[in-house]
Amino acid sequence: MSAPMSDGDHPPIVMPCTDCASGLELADGQLTCVNVQCSSAWITVPIWRAHERLVAAGLDVPAPGAGWPRPLFDGVPHPYLTPVVAGRAWWKLVDERRHQECQLRWACQVCGSPLPSAAWVVVNIHYEVLISTAMHERCLRLATARCPNLVSPPVILTPLQVTPREIRADHRPLDEVLAAAVSKPATTGDWIQEWTVPRTHGLHSPW
Ligand SMILES: [Zn+2]
Ligand SMILES: [Zn+2]
Repeated sequence: MSAPMSDGDHPPIVMPCTDCASGLELADGQLTCVNVQCSSAWITVPIWRAHERLVAAGLDVPAPGAGWPRPLFDGVPHPYLTPVVAGRAWWKLVDERRHQECQLRWACQVCGSPLPSAAWVVVNIHYEVLISTAMHERCLRLATARCPNLVSPPVILTPLQVTPREIRADHRPLDEVLAAAVSKPATTGDWIQEWTVPRTHGLHSPW
């Protein structure tokens, strides 16, 4: 892995742009090209696309795959959805392709492995599902213990045990979406669903 480029006051550039020879810069949790004349200068570049290019060029390796236990970055267990580029976890970003994969395959946002029929989600007071993905009970406990947003959340968050039938994915029952997704081609991260849980559904956690 070559050393990240740096130009004076700018932070080191670790990811090349997919549209030009410049680099991508992370600002406000979004990746954009530092070259103002590039077509990607004013839009958000999906991090998995930029990283895939680095990996294909032999300049980096894929983020840790699915499974347990999770490897540590900055002393924190790596969630499957968090991009790892140049040996560093990009905590503010979500790998869009893995996100879509976890939604359409009913896989865990923390470990990436398949979920049992009843799994756990965390909802806010509007019953919107955090990161619109579910978790194993073990993974929920890990996330609750280690994730700063869950340890001292800025808003009231509630874990619920749910089945796909009880989740609305863009207002459709998730079990129907999962059944339809079986025949779909590989995911691109271009279609991320918004998950909600109707108020009368879901079991509250016993702890
Ligand atoms: Zn560019
Ligand atoms: Zn898990």
